[in-house]
Amino acid sequence: MTDLIAALRGILPESGLITDPVERTAFERDWRGLYNHPALCVALPQTTAQVSDIIKLCAQHGAAIVPQGGNTGLVGGGVPSPDGKQIVLSLNRMRQIRELDLLGDTITVEAGVTLQAVQEAAAAAGRLFPVSLGAEGTAQIGGVISTNAGGVQVLSYGSMRAQVLGLEVVLADGTVWDGLRALRKDNTGFDLKQLFTGAEGTLGIITAACLKLYPAVTARATALAGVASVTGALKLFQALRAEAGPALTLCEFISGAAMDLAAGYVPAGRAPFTAPAYVLTELSAHGAGQDVGGALEAVLAAALEDGTAAEALIAQSGRERADFLALREAIPEGELREGGAIKHDISVPLSKIPEMVAAVETLMADTYPDCRLSVFGHLGDGNLHMNVRPPVGQSLAGLTDRKATITLAVERLAVALGGSFSAEHGIGQIRLPGMTAHKSTVELGLMRALKLALDPQNRLNPGKVIPKDTNTNA
Ligand SMILES: Cc1cc2nc3c(=O)[nH]c(=O)nc-3n(C[C@H](O)[C@H](O)[C@H](O)COP(=O)(O)OP(=O)(O)OC[C@H]3O[C@@H](n4cnc5c(N)ncnc54)[C@H](O)[C@@H]3O)c2cc1C
Repeated sequence: MTDLIAALRGILPESGLITDPVERTAFERDWRGLYNHPALCVALPQTTAQVSDIIKLCAQHGAAIVPQGGNTGLVGGGVPSPDGKQIVLSLNRMRQIRELDLLGDTITVEAGVTLQAVQEAAAAAGRLFPVSLGAEGTAQIGGVISTNAGGVQVLSYGSMRAQVLGLEVVLADGTVWDGLRALRKDNTGFDLKQLFTGAEGTLGIITAACLKLYPAVTARATALAGVASVTGALKLFQALRAEAGPALTLCEFISGAAMDLAAGYVPAGRAPFTAPAYVLTELSAHGAGQDVGGALEAVLAAALEDGTAAEALIAQSGRERADFLALREAIPEGELREGGAIKHDISVPLSKIPEMVAAVETLMADTYPDCRLSVFGHLGDGNLHMNVRPPVGQSLAGLTDRKATITLAVERLAVALGGSFSAEHGIGQIRLPGMTAHKSTVELGLMRALKLALDPQNRLNPGKVIPKDTNTNA
C-alpha cells in the first residue's frame, strides 16, 4: 500500500494527504468514540476530478474508500472498519457554493459545505434552507444527503431527500455522473439521485448537490409546554396541526428525564419549569397575514383550559427562543458527557407512540431496572430516540454484555408496531444486526443487487449498511 500512497502524492498537494497517525486520529474516530480503527491515509481532494482520480488509483491498488463529511454521524458509517486497508476520503476541502438561483429558488453547493453555511447563504439571499439539526455547524451537505438526515423540521419541509434536486456523483470506477439538474419536474426514467441519497457512501461519492430553497420565515412563535405524558403531547400536537397546518414546523417531545439531563448543559442550568414531560413547538409564517403568535396562543390557552397542558411558556424574544431550542439540542451532548447511552432511533405510526413508549418502559422496569431511559425526539414524525443510559456512576462500557440484547428488544417492539428500527440516523456499522434481524429477504436481496451493479468490487464503504450474506459470504 506504500505504492498507493506514493501514487496519491502524485495527484494531491501536500496538504491534501494525511498519513501521520496523530493527524489521522480525528478522521478515524467517530463522534461518539465507539469506533476507532486506523486508515491507510486520509485524502482531501479539492475538486471532483481529484475525487475521480483517487477512486481510480484505489481501484488499481485494491484499496477501499470510506467517504467522510463532518464525521458527526451516529452509526459509525463514516469511519474505517477494522481491517486497516481503507482510505478515508474527506470532502472537507470541497467548500464552494457554486450557484444560488433566486428565480429557481435553488442553491448548488459542493459536498463539503456545512449545513449551517447553506442555511446562512440562503438567509443572506432572503431565503430559507429548512433542514436543521444539532450538528449543523459541522455536518456537511454530502454527509447530510448520504444519511438522508431529518432533524427538527421534517414535519413541515420533509427530510433531506425532499430537498435534493440534483447530484454530482463519482461512481465506483471513477466515472463522474453529472446529475446536477435544478428541475422540479423530471420524469425521465429512474430517479437516480434518490439512489445515492441515504446510501451512506456505499454506492458513490457525492461531490456536489443542487438543493431547494424556500421563502424566508417572516415570523415565528415558539413555546415550551408541560404535559403529563406522551399521550398528552400527542393531543397537543394534533391541536397544533389542526390550527396551523404546514405552519407547524417543529414539534419535539422531551421526557422529564431527558429534560433533567439537558438542563445541566445549558447556561441557565435548569428548565424554565418542571413537568413530567415537555413539548417544544414552533409555528412559522412565510408571508404577511399569518398570525402564528395568535394561533399558538389560542392552541395553548385551550390546552391549559382542558388540562392537556399544565404549564406553557411562549418565547418573548429571540434569546428566549434560542434558550428553549438549546434545551432540546443539549440532550445528545448531555448523554455523551454523562457516561454515554445505547441510542435507539425508532419510528412508529403516530397512533402507536403511547404503546411503544409504554412497552419500552415496561421492558426497562422488568428486565433492566438499573438502567435509565431517556426519551426525546421528533414527535410529529413518529420518531423518538429511546435511549438507554447506564446505571448511575457507570459508563456505556458497563453495559457491553447487555447492549445488543437491549437494542434488539427495543427494535423488535418498534418493528412489531409497524415501525422502523432506524428512522433518521441510518445503518452504518452499528445497525447492521438490525438489518439482518428485521429486513425481509426480498429487501436485502434488492439492496445487494444494487450494490453489486454499482460497486461490483465492493470498494465503496464496505462493511456498512448491507450485512454480509451468510449464504454466499459476500
Ligand atoms: C449532536 C448531534 C445531533 C444530531 N441530530 C440529528 C438529527 O436531528 N437528525 C438526523 O438525521 N441526524 C442527526 N445527527 C446525525 C448526523 O449529524 C447526521 O447524520 C449528518 O447528516 C451527518 O453528516 P456528516 O457530514 O457529519 O456525515 P459523516 O458522519 O461524515 O458521514 C455520514 C455517512 O455519510 C457518508 N458520506 C459522508 N459524506 C459523503 C459524500 N460526500 N458522499 C458519499 N457518502 C458520504 C459517510 O461515509 C457515512 O456513511 C446528529 C448528530 C449529532 C452529533
